[in-house]
Amino acid sequence: MADWPAERLEAVADEQETPVYVIDLDRIRENLGRVQSAFPEADIHYAVKANSGSAVLETFATAGVGAECASAGEFERAVAAGFPTERILYTPVNPPQRDLDTVLEYETEPLAITVGALDTVRRLADRGFTGDVAIRIHPGTGAGHSDSVATGADRKFGIGIDRVEKAVELVTERGMTVVGVHAHAGSGILNPEDVSSHREVVETVAQVVNDLDQDVDFVDVGGGFGVPYRPEGDPLDLAALADSTRDALDSVSGTLRIEPGRYLVADAGLLLTRVNTVKPAGEELLAGVDAGMTDLLRPALYDAYHPVAPVGSMTDREKRSVSVVGPICESTDVLATNRRLPAPERGDLLAIGMTGAYGIEMASQYNSRPRPPVVAFEETTSREIRRREQLEDITAPETDR
Ligand SMILES: *Cc1c(COP(=O)(O)O)cnc(C)c1O
Repeated sequence: MADWPAERLEAVADEQETPVYVIDLDRIRENLGRVQSAFPEADIHYAVKANSGSAVLETFATAGVGAECASAGEFERAVAAGFPTERILYTPVNPPQRDLDTVLEYETEPLAITVGALDTVRRLADRGFTGDVAIRIHPGTGAGHSDSVATGADRKFGIGIDRVEKAVELVTERGMTVVGVHAHAGSGILNPEDVSSHREVVETVAQVVNDLDQDVDFVDVGGGFGVPYRPEGDPLDLAALADSTRDALDSVSGTLRIEPGRYLVADAGLLLTRVNTVKPAGEELLAGVDAGMTDLLRPALYDAYHPVAPVGSMTDREKRSVSVVGPICESTDVLATNRRLPAPERGDLLAIGMTGAYGIEMASQYNSRPRPPVVAFEETTSREIRRREQLEDITAPETDR
């Protein structure tokens, strides 16, 4: 995290108070550039659920990539951010009625609706949909940073290989067109082992496409490109991932589609938080901070590691083992454990790194906590792109007040 400018971060924390998210739009563009160079032939769709802030979406829309949307809300926000509907893939899982109705009400349809169940096909047909459909398969293997995100191995997602033929028949029978096959291995593909699990998933997709009686316009191998959250971690070998994807799809015609989310935005974000309480706990120090699991859920949800660094110089301090804990009444409200950090003091500013993906996006209002603001860095400018919520933002929907 050493490459973030401390004075700018301090200025943001002073102006906005803490906790506050920072997102660097230039870094997002650099990340996208690397994916574009590794996959020059691929049609890239940014997975909106990683970070759906309008400034982030506009950055991608302006760059000309498409959007992959998991819900009607994401679909509408992508349209509002300037993605033409023919650049949007709608990939809902068990979509609520309201979601299907909303998306189908748009005058122009999304590029393709990805279906993961025969019932979804029937529900689209019942609404008179006669557009393009991609079949999401359940490849039976997955990959990812934790079992809870190894989507490809989870029965919840996709149609079993043995039911694909039936799904295609049903789609055709009901007047829709199968234009693609989709699979998403999971999230956080990082080491060579993950790359080979991903390859297995892609090979399964290739097999399914080859077994179809028809050609498809595209083969979508999902996202899941990982980033090293630990400072000592090696970055994903994008070239190796691209080569193995290409290799596995050798026998298949149709455009390659990829849907990275995390890879494009994770390292472009920081969460700034201030220490308000320090207390000893055995050999350790507990640093109580003003950000918690409501602002950054990943440590509580997946036991995820996020780097923590002091902002500004604290080189004169003795290093101690420190755990960083939040203000929420839950024992899982721990942002970091056992880190070697300069002994924290009240008022210190800490940066929690790699929070551009699934950070503000997963934030909640639990404990009646208004969600934090977001400031965007672009070249040398900083601007607020989301204000801090107020208590009123939490209570406004209550109808019997
Ligand atoms: C979540 C998701 C993605 C993006 O995953 P990342 O790990 O953020 O790259 C892409 N496609 C689908 C279908 C998803 O559900």
